[in-house]
Amino acid sequence: MTDKTTKGTAIVTGAGRGLGQAIALELARNGYALVINDLASSGDDAQEVVNQIQKEGGEAEAVLFDVVDGDQTQVALKEVLKKYQTVDVLVNNAGIARDGLFMMMPSKNWKMVIDIALDGFYNMTKPVVKKMMRQKSGSVVTISSVAGLMANRGQVNYSAAKAGLIGASRSLAAEMASVGVRVNVVAPGFIDTGMIEEVPLDNLKEIVPMGRVGQPEEVAKVVRFLCSDDASYITGQVIPINGGMC
Ligand code: NAP
Repeated sequence: MTDKTTKGTAIVTGAGRGLGQAIALELARNGYALVINDLASSGDDAQEVVNQIQKEGGEAEAVLFDVVDGDQTQVALKEVLKKYQTVDVLVNNAGIARDGLFMMMPSKNWKMVIDIALDGFYNMTKPVVKKMMRQKSGSVVTISSVAGLMANRGQVNYSAAKAGLIGASRSLAAEMASVGVRVNVVAPGFIDTGMIEEVPLDNLKEIVPMGRVGQPEEVAKVVRFLCSDDASYITGQVIPINGGMC
């Protein structure tokens, strides 16, 4: 642990495992107090992340709710925003994929993927940014995907959701630039988490110039940079992290 909770508070959604977990650990190791969000059904995972941060000397708590549920999110965030003097970082990470060819895609798979991304963004970002505006500082980083920038068969729903997050973030960045709140996006390629367990990666070397998947920590470090003062002139940007896919 480097610098104990001198940098304020960070909220990371879907932080019980995968990329969210790596981002939460990276931010905690760099001095933020962490609010670890995940679904109530993943409470044990979220608590493990909290335990690890505390073991390393950091500060964290698990706050369990579904980012799609506006009422649940509002109630949970009200407490969080009251408890912490400032909220300095929001990482909109929670997301799912339900891949399949568009012509065979059930409407529930269309809706679920888009709702978690876009309703999740709305439900989380609006109240948090309201506090950041009062503070006149804060950084929002949203996890999009290479699929939001490039065509990918079988991911029409996921591409729509992830491209939507890019559009929403760019416009919000323009609205917030004059009040000291920065809004950016990272667009990872194939990252080694549960999400890509089912993805056939036999031809990885053809798809990814670096010939390997990325590690969650390689995304987390970019997110940490975007949240830091070192990125003080960066807003409204999309940073691809994908081993050279273009
Ligand atoms: P993951 O391992 O499946 O983790 C996703 C996390 O989000 C899980 O903890 C999950 O909870 C949580 N979550 C799902 N729905 C939620 C909801 N409604 N409210 C709160 N939490 C919720 O996936 P990941 O690979 O870490 O993905 C994290 C983000 O990166 C996603 O937005 C994903 O689209 C994006 N991304 C991933 C990759 C990749 O290659 N891995 C590439 C590009 C972008 P449960 O454990 O209960 O399901």
